[in-house]
Amino acid sequence: MTRIILLAPPLSGKGTQAQLLKERCGFVPISTGDLLRRASTSLDEEGRQLAKILASGELVSDDIVIRLLSARLEEIGMEKILLDGFPRNLHQVELLDELLQSKNASIDVVFFLDVPKEILLSRIEGRRVCACCGKIYQVTKDEQRCTCGGELITRSDDNVSSFEARYQQYLEITMPLVSYYSSCGKLVRIDGCQEKEEVYQDILKALKERCEQ
Ligand code: ADP
Repeated sequence: MTRIILLAPPLSGKGTQAQLLKERCGFVPISTGDLLRRASTSLDEEGRQLAKILASGELVSDDIVIRLLSARLEEIGMEKILLDGFPRNLHQVELLDELLQSKNASIDVVFFLDVPKEILLSRIEGRRVCACCGKIYQVTKDEQRCTCGGELITRSDDNVSSFEARYQQYLEITMPLVSYYSSCGKLVRIDGCQEKEEVYQDILKALKERCEQ
């Protein structure tokens, strides 16, 4: 039983790594960004508010995020989970600890994908997401279809101004989690500037060392 967190700046490739860990290792990824994007399509007032917050790059309130996360955990259980985009501030760390304690569970490893801002910025223009299965692409020309046949779209927050807001939030609010998990001995730093396969291999190596998979 392994439970991991992917901690990283926006556009660092954590969604891509979550997909690889799902396909090749059987992790069940939970992306709070995906849960929120799905909730934002609902036609009620909460859906409308969420769509605005997501496009601006601000963080959504902790109570909404934890409600969606708890509901998802109820559906999938606690085995081999991978948290992508959660926790994102120190209060969410506490909420997660409480939630896990109530289920006699804990986090085993926190992977910190380290990528400098210039590289993140260079990835904005080419990022596309499959509207159907959520697979993430970096495109060089106008590739329109995912391997599943779904249409490739640009996310509402994949633009420079939203990125700047998300990156600022990341520096101020999320970076303290790196020191926190490092002090608990759970943090593994991964060089996220490498090719996706190399990033994956580094994660896998650390997983084997830490969890004897
Ligand atoms: P990225 O890592 O590229 O910013 P995500 O899909 O993880 O993309 O998140 C997209 C947006 O969803 C964030 O900018 C934020 O508005 C919201 N979000 C995701 N996770 C959280 C969270 N744990 N707490 C608050 N807001 C969140």
